[in-house]
Amino acid sequence: MISIWEKETFFAPQDVVIVGSGFVGLWSAYHIMKKHPRARVTILDRGLIPTGASTRNAGFACFGSLSELVADAAAMGTDKMLSILEMRFKGLERIQKVFPKKEIDFELCGGYELYDANANAGLLADQMAYINALIKPITRLKKTFQPDDSAIRRFGFGGTRFIVRNNLEGALHSGKLVRALLRLVQSMGAQVLTGIGVTGFDTVNGRIELQLDKAIALTASSILLCTNAFTKELAPELDIVPARGQVLLTSPVAGLPVTGTFHAEEGYYYFRNLGSRILLGGARHKAFASEETMDMSTSETIQAHLQAYLDEVILPGYRGMYTIDHRWSGIMAMGSEKSPIVRELSPGVYCAVRMSGMGVALAPVVSREIARSLL
Ligand SMILES: Cc1cc2nc3c(=O)[nH]c(=O)nc-3n(C[C@H](O)[C@H](O)[C@H](O)COP(=O)(O)OP(=O)(O)OC[C@H]3O[C@@H](n4cnc5c(N)ncnc54)[C@H](O)[C@@H]3O)c2cc1C
Repeated sequence: MISIWEKETFFAPQDVVIVGSGFVGLWSAYHIMKKHPRARVTILDRGLIPTGASTRNAGFACFGSLSELVADAAAMGTDKMLSILEMRFKGLERIQKVFPKKEIDFELCGGYELYDANANAGLLADQMAYINALIKPITRLKKTFQPDDSAIRRFGFGGTRFIVRNNLEGALHSGKLVRALLRLVQSMGAQVLTGIGVTGFDTVNGRIELQLDKAIALTASSILLCTNAFTKELAPELDIVPARGQVLLTSPVAGLPVTGTFHAEEGYYYFRNLGSRILLGGARHKAFASEETMDMSTSETIQAHLQAYLDEVILPGYRGMYTIDHRWSGIMAMGSEKSPIVRELSPGVYCAVRMSGMGVALAPVVSREIARSLL
């Protein structure tokens, strides 16, 4: 049993309980506290630290590569593609407004996309002109994407025919961003409790009673699910499919010429430099079915694809000169559509979930939208 002191402080009735302390949960707390500084807001997370995607991603501050935007326009239509792109663009602006670059290692290093021998020069030029014209009102640039084939030699890539550059993209330190957000929302008055899992909830007399995996009672006027890939455990009706993303990190590579963030194959491969090391992730398209999992281990199949890509494309001239120092995975949320689910599910129960692998940039914007409708 909890004590009266605990009941009247940590577990007192709340205005809002946010479930999940990843980017979306933390940005939501930020927007709620900014608008309602006296609100009683608690963020619960079942991990000791946020344990989903936010601290386990690749740290790209990106709004989409050329081939990704072309594929999105074809799959969901230009209006939806542009609306997501605008959210991501604004999200990246917001991150830079709220946090000093140094605090989160934000670097506007530029983004590049690699095209292999199968790419067609004419088609690529048409796609660039088409997407540049479409997105000009958002990026305010005539040519967001530009050819930069000289980068192939500069970076020493193998199996690469063309490179498209985008000056607006950058990289950041995801751990530092989560930590900075945690400190910020706590300084604004939100309470963060970790190691507490939510297993369900009921509405009783107009208030939400949370069921927790600890012998604690907690109620709130509203709850907000920011549980991304794990949301089906609490709201099984939502169209969410978990998608594991795997990453590897090399040891320092002496004389590494690669700097920036890079995409290939519609964003299914992504890599960047982290100092003089290469952080590489992706290859999920090589084994979609086995990666539809919430298991945060790594698999030999995907890691072998990543290693082959590293050897053949990124560092062909450096074989035997580095080792793989780290491997990890995180879980993203996908679905039949790429747009996030941001809405009230039932009276007092809200969600901001399904970030489709774009949450670094989307979180500051979707959280603002849900915070507005919540209070
Ligand atoms: C390998 C990888 C690379 C990526 N690269 C990029 C990128 O370059 N750019 C980009 O924009 N995005 C990228 N992403 C995606 C991005 O990281 C996610 O979209 C974003 O972190 C999602 O944030 P979130 O807050 O919605 O979810 P999460 O960060 O997953 O947070 C959900 C939280 O909810 C908690 N939780 C779940 N269920 C419960 C429960 N029942 N009770 C209590 N707590 C619960 C979890 O512990 C977790 O902390 C990548 C993801 C991965 C895995």
